[in-house]
Amino acid sequence: LYQEGEYELVLEVRRRAQGYGLYLKYDPTLWDEATLARWLGHYVRLLEGVLADGQRRLGDYALRDGAERVQMAGWQGSERGWALTPVPALFARQVEAAAQALAVSDAQQGWSYGELARRSAEVAQRLRAQGLGAGSVVGVCQGRSVWLLASVLGIWQAGAAYVPLDPGYPAERLGYMLEDSGAAAVLSDATHRQQVEALAGGVPVWAVDEPWTGSSTANLESPQAQDLAYVLYTSGSTGRPKGVRISHGALSNFLQSMAEAPGLKAGERLLAVTTVSFDIAGLELYLPLIVGGECVLCAADVARDGRQLKAELERVRPDLMQATPATWSMLFHAGWRNEAGLKVLCGGEALPARLKQRFDELGTTVWNLYGPTETTIWSTLARLTAQETIHIGRPIANTQAYVLDGAGHEQPVGIVGELYLGGAGLAQGYHGQPERTAAAFIDHALGRLYRTGDLARWRADGQLEHCGRADQQVKVNGHRVEPGEIEALLEQSGLVRQAAVVLREGAHGSQLAAWCVPVEQTQGDGWLESEQVRALQGWLGERVPGYMQPAIWLGTA
Ligand code: AMP
Repeated sequence: LYQEGEYELVLEVRRRAQGYGLYLKYDPTLWDEATLARWLGHYVRLLEGVLADGQRRLGDYALRDGAERVQMAGWQGSERGWALTPVPALFARQVEAAAQALAVSDAQQGWSYGELARRSAEVAQRLRAQGLGAGSVVGVCQGRSVWLLASVLGIWQAGAAYVPLDPGYPAERLGYMLEDSGAAAVLSDATHRQQVEALAGGVPVWAVDEPWTGSSTANLESPQAQDLAYVLYTSGSTGRPKGVRISHGALSNFLQSMAEAPGLKAGERLLAVTTVSFDIAGLELYLPLIVGGECVLCAADVARDGRQLKAELERVRPDLMQATPATWSMLFHAGWRNEAGLKVLCGGEALPARLKQRFDELGTTVWNLYGPTETTIWSTLARLTAQETIHIGRPIANTQAYVLDGAGHEQPVGIVGELYLGGAGLAQGYHGQPERTAAAFIDHALGRLYRTGDLARWRADGQLEHCGRADQQVKVNGHRVEPGEIEALLEQSGLVRQAAVVLREGAHGSQLAAWCVPVEQTQGDGWLESEQVRALQGWLGERVPGYMQPAIWLGTA
């Protein structure tokens, strides 16, 4: 028996009349019996493997026995046989069921399902009249109004795919996304049309909220599950964002799984706060439409301000809201206490323990959602009550998660490895980048898998725990940032020879810090001259969104 002051963990091997006996002595305040029994089992299996064939590399011996394999297979996402019906057809069912019900609203107006169907059909006709349809990509660069949903649905009904463009992003970046995606037109609005025309490089720009005098009676063909639904740009480590191609089938599977859990019902309202440039906005915009709920669009400046957002929640009284940990923390700072019992969805980056604790104090259950853009919005989910410690749960429907070691073998329970995802949510790949696609989406004995770059482990109770990143990628208030992209841009500025960008956790969230070796010498106190900083900020400001701008600047010789 373990006694205080001894080694925390001791393996004793005793020779017996026949064979050996293995005994683990351990500090019971650190481990429980089940964990230690599992370890002993793994050790015995390793010894058996080595005795059977002593020529393999240590990492190549299986540790799990049949029972553990079967148990872990049961933790995968449930297999659902639903049809991967694209959103326009799922939406059409709701139009039939309740044409009068409110589908979408903004600060100015609300549209019923019938009205939204009419508006989106008009957008689709307009695109068809210009010869756009299956195989085309159309940009969406406009404010957050009811027209946003009419635009996306219209693009889909025309058979095309959309690329979301936040008008708040720098012109250079928007121009790059338009060009790289091969967008054939942009749907803007009266407020943003001129701005968009200036960056569109000759691509036609239409304001959807301006009257359209043309007419078209083109047949609208419903998109199929394998057709492209959207191209979403995310930070790329080599200095350029990369476009992730998501099919209608992947989006449909995701939304049908979300409709079950966390769940949204007909007549319920969701307050949508996320920029369309972040893939998780897809849940906010389309989940209500496939269940007969209402999407309430929150203005961008309101969503950024804790006090205004709190007031908006009190006015709208939604049933559900999804946001990043940064937004929920901001609401707490503004004095929000979830008096109305809102269903809380949180994701985009690791849920901080102190934020979880604040929810616990309110008695609010948090849905922790995890997933990369490349596997369609969210891939695992956990319902975290006060009793639960933080984890990312299990895969959603028709989705598999595997924790693999460096040789591609599944890790046993409790051992950290890299997280790979498979199933219905997998992207088609990166737009126009076959090599990058081949490197990230691999053919494995377990199927086609996306290599997430996240570290994870399975807990004994069948929940996944996120354990950080295996690479440099960071999150700034939920936004995915490859520091390498910023470093590459800084080095292209001609002002610095070399740059290193890292994330620093501050009292008010995370901030990026840039270390630069300037071409021109500084005064020697380590800091860059304020002029140098201004020049670098200006250079970056024209190329990257605000969240990618470092807050801390340091110079070294
Ligand atoms: P994005 O493609 O922008 O959605 O970013 C995906 C990455 O964000 C994942 O690979 C994780 O590193 C991180 N992430 C997202 N949600 C969570 C979560 N709930 N817990 C921990 N990390 C998360």
